[in-house]
Amino acid sequence: MTTNRIATPKRTREILNKYGFHFKKSLGQNFLIDVNILENIMKQAGIDKHAAAIEVGPGIGALTEQLAIHADKVVAYEIDQRLLPILQETLKDYENVQVMHQDILKADVSSAIHKYFDPGKAVHVVANLPYYITTPILMKLLREKLPVTSITIMIQKEVAERMAAEPNNKSYGSLSIAVQYYTDAEVIMNVPKTVFMPPPNVDSSVLQLTIRGIPPVQVDHEGYFFEVVQACFAQRRKTLRNNLNRHFKGVFEKEKITELLEKAGIDGGRRGESLDMQEFAVLANIFYREIGH
Ligand code: SAM
Repeated sequence: MTTNRIATPKRTREILNKYGFHFKKSLGQNFLIDVNILENIMKQAGIDKHAAAIEVGPGIGALTEQLAIHADKVVAYEIDQRLLPILQETLKDYENVQVMHQDILKADVSSAIHKYFDPGKAVHVVANLPYYITTPILMKLLREKLPVTSITIMIQKEVAERMAAEPNNKSYGSLSIAVQYYTDAEVIMNVPKTVFMPPPNVDSSVLQLTIRGIPPVQVDHEGYFFEVVQACFAQRRKTLRNNLNRHFKGVFEKEKITELLEKAGIDGGRRGESLDMQEFAVLANIFYREIGH
């Protein structure tokens, strides 16, 4: 049975030929053809019969099949209508899969969780994401504060490194803060191009995100906090003072910005990449209170 899994080069080719399916590059279609990697992901993501799984982009069902075998229930969102009849056939032996023909960016995932999953199950997102919209998809899932335990995603290696980066690392930036505000992030696997059909142009990694119960820092206003963080990284080689002056032009005088940096106990000559999340939180709160909140 294992030999007949969807995620093999032979079976994938058979399915694609049977349906005359042609990959759409614009939809980030690179299908997984390695069962070992998928089984490893199941283990690392803690997918068992106590778990409910959400998948983004099932393709022809390579990962979906593994989720169906290991998890209690799977809800999978696929935007490409051409894949629906294929999934109906490839997943016909699994009764615990619900395929939703929807754009994940527009989907009401919270309602689906309540509708399809047993309340006792821990919900895990597991996906080989379409690389052209990795960040929008992830940020949507995080901002909606869904009742989800973990998110395990195959993404472009360089993006995974940025999301998991620590201060003083060249990959560290506003994306690291955005992701780590909501999650504990760890790159758990690097994956060669050869495990995909067709192989993508970039290297891939699996990123595991464990959702935090409460944020690691206390911020007065989340939107404002992320705005300040982004401002500090706007021009990476510039100092904090320069970046903040530029961003808050017309809002705060330069002298005021110097004063606020001092109040935060942060040297304005530093660069954004040297600040940890706690320092960004202190800075953002001081700025936020200054504008009268
Ligand atoms: N999970 C399959 C696998 O691992 O073999 C396919 C992964 S492929 C990298 C990404 C999948 O996401 C494709 O099936 C693509 O059609 C789908 N997709 C692209 N954009 C989407 C969107 N906005 N919403 C839902 N699915 C999307």
